[in-house]
Amino acid sequence: MRILVTNDDGIHAPGLRALAEAVEDLGTVHVVAPAVERSAVGHAITLFEPLWIERMHDGDKELGVAVSGTPADCVKLAIQALLPEPPDLVLSGINRGANTGTNVLYSGTVSAATEGTILGIPSIAISIASFEFRDYEPSIWVARELVRDLREHGLPRGTLLNVNMPPLPRGEIRGVRYTRQGRARYVENFIERTDPRNRTYYWMEGEKEDRPEPPGSDETAVAEGFISICPIHYDLTDWAMLRSMEGRFAELGGVPAPDLPPSAP
Ligand code: MN
Repeated sequence: MRILVTNDDGIHAPGLRALAEAVEDLGTVHVVAPAVERSAVGHAITLFEPLWIERMHDGDKELGVAVSGTPADCVKLAIQALLPEPPDLVLSGINRGANTGTNVLYSGTVSAATEGTILGIPSIAISIASFEFRDYEPSIWVARELVRDLREHGLPRGTLLNVNMPPLPRGEIRGVRYTRQGRARYVENFIERTDPRNRTYYWMEGEKEDRPEPPGSDETAVAEGFISICPIHYDLTDWAMLRSMEGRFAELGGVPAPDLPPSAP
């Protein structure tokens, strides 16, 4: 089994190293990750400059390839140019900080896994819901179990798994919940400052908003001490609205009723 390991915290992040080592004995591991931290770049790709790569070593051991681009760039480049053969699995993480609710849209960690999925490869994103928690042992345990499960059951085409770990030692984790993407989001504030050359700049800060979550949400699961496993699809269509759109925007020339495939949700 060939496993591509990537992240958005950068090639030097301890979570990346922990994830690569976690699955080392389950297959051939290739690490291709951003050269610097690229958290919150979402699904951005690099079009107007080249992608520089650097092969990183620790003594004789090759640690992986650092890429000057985004997490999505790393997955594309690895699969289409760097790896001798396409991987059987893409693992992204272990991210510092939760990727629940709307944060999934900004997340480079999840976008790397989404890119793997777009390219037809089963993919998993793993995050720890804390910026300080340093115990990777529970995440490693979960990553290994997920790899075993995927090897047996695969994933539906177009679907990836977004996994969030509570920041707890394994003995205190209450179990797994299969979740839906919740509403978690940040309330942001722009701090205005002046630079040494007297120019005004803004720097965004934010903290998670305390808002009600729908039943079964990823955010609630993690907050209550459970591992959240949320299947995500990159098809953003609102199927319920699509079914009820007939007659709308008629002035635009009569929109035909959408021809929905029977398998649509
Ligand atoms: Mn990150």
